[in-house]
Amino acid sequence: MAGDQMKTCTKCNQVKSTEDYHVDRSKSTGLHSHCVDCRRKHMLAAYPSYYARRGRELLRSRYQTDEKYREKQKQKSRSRKAQ
Ligand SMILES: [Zn+2]
Repeated sequence: MAGDQMKTCTKCNQVKSTEDYHVDRSKSTGLHSHCVDCRRKHMLAAYPSYYARRGRELLRSRYQTDEKYREKQKQKSRSRKAQ
């Protein structure tokens, strides 16, 4: 079972499940040498404006498509006003 395999991240040196690594077919292992967390941190540090923009877009699209989420946000703003 592939999900049971463990791999050490060369960045944070933590042993994690191979599910915590992105697939990279150019590598002999077929996986990135850095775990998902380290890659995310690296990408955030390297491209903060890109991720900030993308985050806003994701939120907006969720707001438009997810009715439950929209309702929840409305309730949130209502409870803020009530205080
Ligand atoms: Zn790591």
